[in-house]
Amino acid sequence: MQMRHRYRIEPTPAQQATLARVFGCARVVFNDALRVREQAYRAGVKLSDSEIQRRVVTTAKTTTRRAWLCEVPSVALVQSVNDSRRAWRNFFESVSGKRKGRKMGRPRFKSRKDHRQSFRLTRNGFSLRSNGRLFVAKVGEVGVRWSRELPSEPSSVTIIREPDGRYYASFVVDVPASPLPPVEREAGVDVGIARLATIAATDGVRSDIDNPKGLGRKLRKLAQLEREKSRRQKGSANRDKSRRKVAVPHNEVARARRDYHHKQALALVRDNQVIHVEDLNILGMVQNRRLARAISDAGWGQFVRIIGEKADRYGRTVHTVSRWLASSKTCSGCGHRLDELPLQVRTWTCPACRVVHDRDHNAAKVILAAGRAERLNACGVPVSPATSGQARGDEAGSTPTAA
Ligand SMILES: [Zn+2]
Repeated sequence: MQMRHRYRIEPTPAQQATLARVFGCARVVFNDALRVREQAYRAGVKLSDSEIQRRVVTTAKTTTRRAWLCEVPSVALVQSVNDSRRAWRNFFESVSGKRKGRKMGRPRFKSRKDHRQSFRLTRNGFSLRSNGRLFVAKVGEVGVRWSRELPSEPSSVTIIREPDGRYYASFVVDVPASPLPPVEREAGVDVGIARLATIAATDGVRSDIDNPKGLGRKLRKLAQLEREKSRRQKGSANRDKSRRKVAVPHNEVARARRDYHHKQALALVRDNQVIHVEDLNILGMVQNRRLARAISDAGWGQFVRIIGEKADRYGRTVHTVSRWLASSKTCSGCGHRLDELPLQVRTWTCPACRVVHDRDHNAAKVILAAGRAERLNACGVPVSPATSGQARGDEAGSTPTAA
């Protein structure tokens, strides 16, 4: 299985100038490929992938307009064409319904004003030197801060310049799966705002995953800098300075959150054989916008993605409950469904069976029960008697309704 390992790199000023050129060329080729595809599509012409690559890389290099493409590693350009193709396909398959999940927008042209720049290289564009440096074609040897060991030879690398001006190398490495001994326990995960997640497990134990601690101060600092930035005039030098100032704490917050998500996901995967989660796409669709903002701040998507990666690696299963579940409003005891449950209500009593519920723990139990029922229906996975008496999936209602 493939994983990403990311390290800070320290290019010299001369190398930074070269890298800027590669970012620029990769961007131009990405956009050219997208444009060729769009024009061909509108004209009703079918172009093969290799024909597109020939036009925007090989032939383009021979023209005076694009001659400077010769100065950068051609693997970076080829990968850029591939990225462009993937963006286009994702968009098309999303529109035609072939691709599930959130609808993808039309691929966006890349701009020199994008604050995050990157390009990708496969094996023939880079190598790791015995002196611990990273050799990048046409750029040279770049110093790397090896914060942890690379588990194996990387198959590709993405060179990134973040908005705060730092450079990173993100390697794709093959990691052998290392399944853990199987366990009986399964868990339902309810992601939330007040805390990252509430877990209900088949052994009846509840566990809470708090939001990462110590982010409060950093987030307040970030908010202050964001306000400062918004007061500066767009396009001004001061605005640009502000933007770079914001990028630093922004990066720190992102890193702290990612580390925390990794740690929590590992514990969850270690302790449970199957982890049931709600489909965040469905969840996002029915929630209001302010909540959507909170969702993106809490980084649920990243957390669930990391759980999935770890589950793959350690031989566990992540089951996404595919149906719309009104998990917060459904009684995990008897399946009764409330019409409404305002967000500020943290505990409620079921009018049908009189059980008092903690909002989040109840939701986690509903997700667990529905997930297990779905898996049982799908592939005959045995459900232990412990779950009888809990809400059945179908009792939660079958038609998606906007809350
Ligand atoms: Zn009830």
